[in-house]
Amino acid sequence: MLGAPGAGKGTQAVRIAARLAVPHISTGDIFRAHLKNGTAIGRQVQPYLDAGQLVPDELTCAIVADRLQADDCRGGYVLDGFPRSVPQAEMLTKLLRDHGDDLDMAIDIAVPDEEIVGRLAARRFCPKCGKIFNLKFSPSGNGKKCDAPGCDGSLERRSDDEEETIRERLRVYHETTEPIIGYYGNQGILRTVPAAQASADDVFAKVEELLRTAGAA
Ligand code: AMP
Repeated sequence: MLGAPGAGKGTQAVRIAARLAVPHISTGDIFRAHLKNGTAIGRQVQPYLDAGQLVPDELTCAIVADRLQADDCRGGYVLDGFPRSVPQAEMLTKLLRDHGDDLDMAIDIAVPDEEIVGRLAARRFCPKCGKIFNLKFSPSGNGKKCDAPGCDGSLERRSDDEEETIRERLRVYHETTEPIIGYYGNQGILRTVPAAQASADDVFAKVEELLRTAGAA
């Protein structure tokens, strides 16, 4: 899944993974879990996450390579937030080739910058179950509590969703991550989903169409 921070790629990635019954692998979630659990990797990545900058490619790729070896990845997976630089994309291509594998599709969820800042400022998540909310587009029915079945977690704002960090993440996105769109375009596997002013349901309808066309769903 490709797209600027806040484009909704995480929300779509979770839905696609559920639809195809494959794991959803988010490098951001993996890093945040390390932070929460106070691991050595957590201490290593914290300054990057706090500053809205990218964790070094070597560490990120090692974590992904390890995760992709797990049994649950044998039938496929949805990568969310990885790769995020051309060197990461190249390392992923090589890693997969070494296993006689390749990516089926790179889906870019395209949202203009001016919409991104407003979306991220309104983003909240449930620290208990991980569900993502947006105070504008998809507020919780329970106000400030999570409305997922059986969950009543108190919604929080990600620390890197503060205005100054958002602007830095967008800068990093354009400089380092956006060139990946060309990388996958050249490989012929890029699919772009225009998502300006669109609800998560509307975007998912377009994504499902792509999956059907590819024979995946
Ligand atoms: P995300 O949840 O995808 O927005 O990621 C949150 C933060 O984790 C990013 O701002 C980066 O600091 C870090 N991160 C996540 N994925 C990567 C990646 N593929 N490469 C480097 N840093 C990453």
